[in-house]
Amino acid sequence: VKKIEFVKQHVRSYPDFPKKGILFRDIFSVFNDVEATRTLDCLIADHVKNLQKPIDAVIGLESRGFLFGPQIASILGVPFVPARKKGKLPGELIRLEYSLEYGTDVMEVQKESLAGKKSVLIVDDLLATGGTMKAAVDLATSTGANVVECFVILELADLKGRDKIPVPCHSLIVYD
Ligand code: IMP
Repeated sequence: VKKIEFVKQHVRSYPDFPKKGILFRDIFSVFNDVEATRTLDCLIADHVKNLQKPIDAVIGLESRGFLFGPQIASILGVPFVPARKKGKLPGELIRLEYSLEYGTDVMEVQKESLAGKKSVLIVDDLLATGGTMKAAVDLATSTGANVVECFVILELADLKGRDKIPVPCHSLIVYD
């Protein structure tokens, strides 16, 4: 709890960014402090080393999921797979269209990278409304993979994003 509080103190909050009425939580501010960065690394390692189920791949969500995914994959000794917005990934893709507040968006992964991966962990920096994570779970599931866990560093609990996620969801730092 001390470690969590220490890291939380280094997450800066910006009112009215990127739009009026939004309180933006900035994970990058943690990386601005060496001790906070190392403490966060420890917390992440503690969590993923204690996962009780085998994982075959780690999926990281664009873009701040890329800050944690390769590190977690390396700890677990499995491949890292990026899930990106439309048009960013080369090669054969698996695609999912999902709805946002206004309109729709598309998330893609490379087909080969998830071939034969039975159990995956999905990581992102932050869970807000849960729309992004839900799309990632649906995309992974559509490949035949089982999502063992969705893991985020920060969770905005009042938005109840986890209620949308049909699999276990773990967050390190919660804002009520
Ligand atoms: P959701 O789909 O509403 O859960 O939003 C989550 C996605 O939006 C994640 O990929 C986050 O990186 C991004 N996001 C939403 N709110 C914030 C915030 O306050 N700080 C940083 N990223 C955010």
